[in-house]
Amino acid sequence: MAEALNQAKIAFDKDEVPVGAVIVENGEIIAVAHNNNLHLKDPTAHAEILALRLAATKKNSSRLDNCDLYVTLEPCAMCASAIALARIRRVYYAASDEKFGAVENGVRIFNSSSCHHRPELYSGINQTEAADLLVKFFRSKRS
Ligand SMILES: [Zn+2]
Repeated sequence: MAEALNQAKIAFDKDEVPVGAVIVENGEIIAVAHNNNLHLKDPTAHAEILALRLAATKKNSSRLDNCDLYVTLEPCAMCASAIALARIRRVYYAASDEKFGAVENGVRIFNSSSCHHRPELYSGINQTEAADLLVKFFRSKRS
């Protein structure tokens, strides 16, 4: 999660929404990414999506069965769906997102009948640090 927070800080410094993601396989980091919507001009460029793409390319496979994902914010519906499609084994996230989160809030993608893979979930790791960064970011946007 420390590396995911690092990635979130990189996003913050680029004026992107500060969310970072890391994918780990066998204790080794195989992909790191941060939100990059503005710079890539891509509405799907969330940290999780970019990390999944990198990991899939690295493994030369669309399935990431033995991989775990660390992300600083509860995944949205798009990312949760992509995580299920990639068959990620475990998801660790820091801050929860009552507005757009879709794992333990909102539509709870992994609990829906159309979801065919449910990763193990662990939340709240480093949540204060991750949430503080987001609050600081959105506060700077309002002023
Ligand atoms: Zn997302």
